[in-house]
Amino acid sequence: MKISEIFAPTLREVPAEAEVISHILMLRAGMIRKAASGVYTFLPLGYRVMKKVIQIVREEMDKKGGQELMLPIIQPAELWMESGRWHVYGDELFRLKDRHGRDFALGPTHEEIITDLVKGDVRSYKQLPLLLYQIQNKYRDERRPRFGLMRGREFIMKDLYSFDRDQEGLDVSYQKMYDAYARIFTRCGLQFRPVEADPGAIGGSGGTHEFMVVADSGEAAIVYCDTCNYAANVEKAEAVPDSGNIAEEMKEMQEISTPGARTIDEVTGFLKVNSESLVKTLIYQTEAETIAAIVRGDREINEIKLQNLLGSLHLEMADERTVREITGAAPGFAGPVGLSEIRIIADSEVMQMRNTITGANKTDTHIINVNPGRDFVPERIADIRLVKAGEKCPRCEGILLEARGIEVGQVFKLGTKYSEAMGARYLDENGREKLMVMGCYGVGVSRTVAASIEQNHDQDGIIWPMPIAPFHAVVVPVSFKDEQQLKLAQQIYNSLNDSGVEAVIDDRNERPGVKFKDADLIGFPLRVIVGTKAVEEGTVEIKHRRTGDVRTVAVTNAVSVIRKIVSDELAESMPSS
Ligand code: ATP
Ligand code: MG
Repeated sequence: MKISEIFAPTLREVPAEAEVISHILMLRAGMIRKAASGVYTFLPLGYRVMKKVIQIVREEMDKKGGQELMLPIIQPAELWMESGRWHVYGDELFRLKDRHGRDFALGPTHEEIITDLVKGDVRSYKQLPLLLYQIQNKYRDERRPRFGLMRGREFIMKDLYSFDRDQEGLDVSYQKMYDAYARIFTRCGLQFRPVEADPGAIGGSGGTHEFMVVADSGEAAIVYCDTCNYAANVEKAEAVPDSGNIAEEMKEMQEISTPGARTIDEVTGFLKVNSESLVKTLIYQTEAETIAAIVRGDREINEIKLQNLLGSLHLEMADERTVREITGAAPGFAGPVGLSEIRIIADSEVMQMRNTITGANKTDTHIINVNPGRDFVPERIADIRLVKAGEKCPRCEGILLEARGIEVGQVFKLGTKYSEAMGARYLDENGREKLMVMGCYGVGVSRTVAASIEQNHDQDGIIWPMPIAPFHAVVVPVSFKDEQQLKLAQQIYNSLNDSGVEAVIDDRNERPGVKFKDADLIGFPLRVIVGTKAVEEGTVEIKHRRTGDVRTVAVTNAVSVIRKIVSDELAESMPSS
């Protein structure tokens, strides 16, 4: 391709709404354009990258026995009612009506439609296991579409669904996909970490992992062990309870006046104690009830753990009126002692505490020497707190570290959630009817492209890993007026393409500085500079975008040198097994 002909309109100024570097660079390099909030056009260069990621995903799915099909994007509401998700999915589901007034949804994910398909056509154990996948647009009316391709309302996903006879079969399928995902992100040249993730209150039966690209701009917080390979989304990370001061002798409870001291900081300041000796009481509201959740004063509640424990669809902090009604006090003075009207859910660690300080359910008052078990008995005791860096690893003696991650993929054991709701059964060897055991596995293809830029860029632009670069090399004749340079450049460009290197030539009548800037911005891994030396000495310069290394090579060798660099880098990113 000639750069003069590629439809890649570069931009100098980007809209202020572009906050993260991948969004900024894709707009500037002419790879995407916005059509509406969270809806983007992929321009030719951007789409080339997308297609490379798609091809890698496709090869790895096929290698594991996945069969590619294409399910409809427009899905009848009846299927979503059968699974129960028509109501649960909420505003994120794009809904539409046809001319007869029938309800449809634009697929945000395809469990319903594929379960319906498979239940109709799979009868016998002999037809299982079955791994079916597609690569297609997905639609989610996200509350906050942002960061360009990172959180779109229309985006490209690979989704595979596994159907097995039993749990052991599912474990095998899950492992296949886990391994395939590790290969996919390795081949894309990404630094990633699989982490244990939260299956959610309405999730499936078994485990789930998210594949996180490590990047400061990531929306997810993850913790990982400095010693073993434990890694988890903080939503899910297991807490190791501190042993506390359980050995201490219990003292007599006593009310004390704490005028105006509502927050943990105010109370610790007022009483000259540290926050570890306090119990924090938070009043929450679900769709069904009001509850109190308690944690040590220096800890935070993990609302996802709490919501899963309660099995509730909604969970939010109770409003002031409810707090006053339940505790009889202004917010900030709630405590578990005498709080008999509602359930108390205690974090495990609280039970290790002695002679603690809590709110007294009386405005401007706290109680000291409160002893869990003696002075109040929680209805549930469980791990409901947020884990932070510096804490103990739940698997070994190591310490947890913290990082930000971009979720580029997730593997999920669904179990029989959908096969039960929708009646997907098969006949086993003995002619008995059994539920199929399912898994689902998604790769955010367009998000992966954005994530790779978050990890691979510098102040000048994108630095594509070779396997997903839109082109491997750009050939730049330095002087437009020098016909010999142009001719040599043209020859090198032609032979590169003939030898399988994807090359473009910058044939524009522009100053070399402009061409170099654009080449850096777009991020071609290799740049071949054809200048006066090419004509006078028969040499060209090959500049490596990532390392900045410049090699001078004979014109006659240029093609083979470039071909070698490209094939070496492609081979390097290929996992061994
Ligand atoms: P998130 O928590 O980021 O909203 P999710 O857990 O809802 O994502 P899944 O249902 O697991 O997403 O979808 C599979 C993959 O699709 C995700 O791992 C992610 O890479 C990608 N993805 C999900 N939502 C979006 C979106 N709005 N824009 C782009 N990619 C997305
Ligand atoms: Mg997910």
